[in-house]
Amino acid sequence: MAERQIGDIIKQAEAKIRPRISEVEATAEQNQARVLEAFRQNHVSSFHLQGTTGYGYDDSGRDVLEAVYAELFGHATALVRPQLISGTHAIAAALFGLMRPGDELIYASGTPYDTLQTVLGLTGDEPGNFSSLGLKVKVIPLKSDGSMDLEAVKGAITKKTKVIAFQRSRGYEDRPSFPIQEIAEAVSILRPYTSAYMFVDNCYGEFVETKEPGHAGADICAGSLIKNPGGGLVRTGGYITGSEEAVAQAASRLAAPGIGSEGGATLNMLQEMYQGLFLAPHVVQESLKGALFTAALLEEVGFDTTPNWQEARTDLIQAVHFHNRQAMITFCQEVQRQSPVDANVTPEPSAMPGYEDEVIMAAGTFIQGASIELTADGPLRPPYTAFVQGGLMYAHVKLAVIAAVEKLHQITKE
Ligand SMILES: *Cc1c(COP(=O)(O)O)cnc(C)c1O
Repeated sequence: MAERQIGDIIKQAEAKIRPRISEVEATAEQNQARVLEAFRQNHVSSFHLQGTTGYGYDDSGRDVLEAVYAELFGHATALVRPQLISGTHAIAAALFGLMRPGDELIYASGTPYDTLQTVLGLTGDEPGNFSSLGLKVKVIPLKSDGSMDLEAVKGAITKKTKVIAFQRSRGYEDRPSFPIQEIAEAVSILRPYTSAYMFVDNCYGEFVETKEPGHAGADICAGSLIKNPGGGLVRTGGYITGSEEAVAQAASRLAAPGIGSEGGATLNMLQEMYQGLFLAPHVVQESLKGALFTAALLEEVGFDTTPNWQEARTDLIQAVHFHNRQAMITFCQEVQRQSPVDANVTPEPSAMPGYEDEVIMAAGTFIQGASIELTADGPLRPPYTAFVQGGLMYAHVKLAVIAAVEKLHQITKE
């Protein structure tokens, strides 16, 4: 590939995605307006950026931040806490909070994300998982076209069904992600058959569309602050938004019955939580532009991508199918080399707990494990799919992906 040629291919990829970029920009603008309005409506003031210590009672900055989150996600109330250590923890707090002995949970969107399988006891035997407490889980497989099997969900509902769960993002599964509209339809179809809480795992989905799970009729949802809503600034935390009643149960579980949402010091975290949320629509936009470019460029040079650059998106995940072990390794290593942090570390395929195959992970991030920053990873097995996600700015994703494609070409020529 002569230098001029790669230049042409890049231009072609960028020209192709131009209409999609405009769509992403329009969504970001709407979301920025929503965020700004929520800040203004809730009178966010400089003293709200200060945190509390100790028990963390009467934390007005935390209360206002939670009111802003609730509004943005279409819900009555929220928990937005540094004490939620990850997305998995936020989801687990919500689900354990809602369930009582003998209750059943139905996963309507097929196999849940790996870490949730562990929480629910679908894999492994970790102490305190759902199955150890006698809580029943029914996973309803997706139909062959990747859509939810709502007839089967209806058939699985009993008097004991307490929660019906939906996962918006494909995560690392080989299935499409579920747009907010599809979740809204599923919720309204299932409502007449059950009084169960409708829960959404919203990880990676925040601000990709202009509506969120609360607008889709879900009772409660949860996610991570080191993904989309932290805007790349928040160093730790998670959120849960929902109805007063549903969130109160999660708060009892997160803290303790009697403490609920009243306690929990915010220390010096509020400033970055507010600022990160303010930036989130923009950062999500940058990531999405990066994902569109990644899909278009890799398709130009002959790889399969899911979603492809033309398809609608509801999350940040970009899968690239390399169909070749060495190509996937080379791509991930070059993404790492183009990172702002740990650029001179070379990621190698290695065994990981919970995975049957070796995994490679490129993550030169400022915040450990923050997948709103550019990362590329995946298990090394056919079709050799790397999951490329995040990027604080389009220019960085573009530079890294171009470098990786150039590197791939060198390798195949040698
Ligand atoms: C990231 C993610 C989670 C939670 O992961 P953490 O690493 O614990 O934050 C859950 N579900 C989905 C779909 C995710 O993408």
